[in-house]
Amino acid sequence: MDDATLVRMCTRLDPEQRNEIIRRLLRWFRGNARDLPWRRTRDPYLIWLSEIMLQQTRVETVLGYYARFTEAYPCVEDLAAASEEHVLKLWEGLGYYSRARNLLEAARWVVRESGGAFPADARSLIQLPGVGRYTAGAIASIAFGERTPVLDGNVKRVLARLCAVRESIDDTATGKRLWSLAGHLVSARAPGDSNQALMELGARICTPRKPTCGRCPVQTLCRAHEECLTEILPVRRPRKPIPHHEIVAAALFKNGRILFGRRPSRSMLGGLWEFPGGKVNPGETHVEALEREIREEVGLEIEVGDHVAAVNHAYTHFKITLHLYACRVLRGRPEARFHTALKWILPAHLDRHAFPAATLRLFPELERFRR
Ligand code: SF4
Repeated sequence: MDDATLVRMCTRLDPEQRNEIIRRLLRWFRGNARDLPWRRTRDPYLIWLSEIMLQQTRVETVLGYYARFTEAYPCVEDLAAASEEHVLKLWEGLGYYSRARNLLEAARWVVRESGGAFPADARSLIQLPGVGRYTAGAIASIAFGERTPVLDGNVKRVLARLCAVRESIDDTATGKRLWSLAGHLVSARAPGDSNQALMELGARICTPRKPTCGRCPVQTLCRAHEECLTEILPVRRPRKPIPHHEIVAAALFKNGRILFGRRPSRSMLGGLWEFPGGKVNPGETHVEALEREIREEVGLEIEVGDHVAAVNHAYTHFKITLHLYACRVLRGRPEARFHTALKWILPAHLDRHAFPAATLRLFPELERFRR
């Protein structure tokens, strides 16, 4: 089959086949969907919250955060009135912290501009901070019954297999074709359910490795299955190697308190508190790097003491090893030259602040260094 034919076949489905796929997906979803708290509601606030939390994050991880968030902020007005510090504390450990900041910004917008009523269609929802095409489609179809598609990683995989899309799903052109296909597979009567059925199928049956085709409701309509391509599809663009950085940080003590800096809002991990420090440059020792970083970042001359501990952490585009050293101030007063604020925090008050996951893992190691 030539590419032109393949493209034609893969942007639209035969209407009978399409209707049959939707019918089977809906029947399967209604009999097999996981009972998740955000599936028991049509409240756009709760659906929006769950969709933001589920971005890049597993359902099992989200469940606890969703429960704590909805208890703390049962409605959008409650969230809009919250402090960023409190929202970040509740989000602590969930990662991708710009989601939490956008959530707060969007809640405040909804309350200020429309008295707490959420925009009711995908085109308006996409104007909210942190809401992209996928999230707008999910909220609009599930909460408002709009016939609009969703395309996340799970749906991309299902569609690439169902229609035997042989081009990389990371390419823009393929992305457009998959959006078109996803749009073709939205049920007119139950758009929210058909979208969720595709996502659920990708999460539980049409998994990245070893899809369980024997349990798949659309197996007999699936071209990848028919052509023995399920292990090959979807095609992904080769990934670049993930860089690794050595990071050094200083635990500075004063009267039983420890010095932390608050990261700028728009930076990675924005709004979270961290030990001052930074990246080790090529050719630098840890001590040289830490002395330089603390001088540049907080204006202090320090003596680097014992190595407290090291932890490894993986972010999306790089990995780090974070080394913490117990340090002593020789000269100077702390100045926030990079952070938006510096604070000497009592260990008993650490739970009032939000920290990155790697920093949290270092706290138990600090006990023996407090003076
Ligand atoms: Fe995925 Fe297999 Fe179902 Fe095809 S038959 S959609 S490959 S699970």
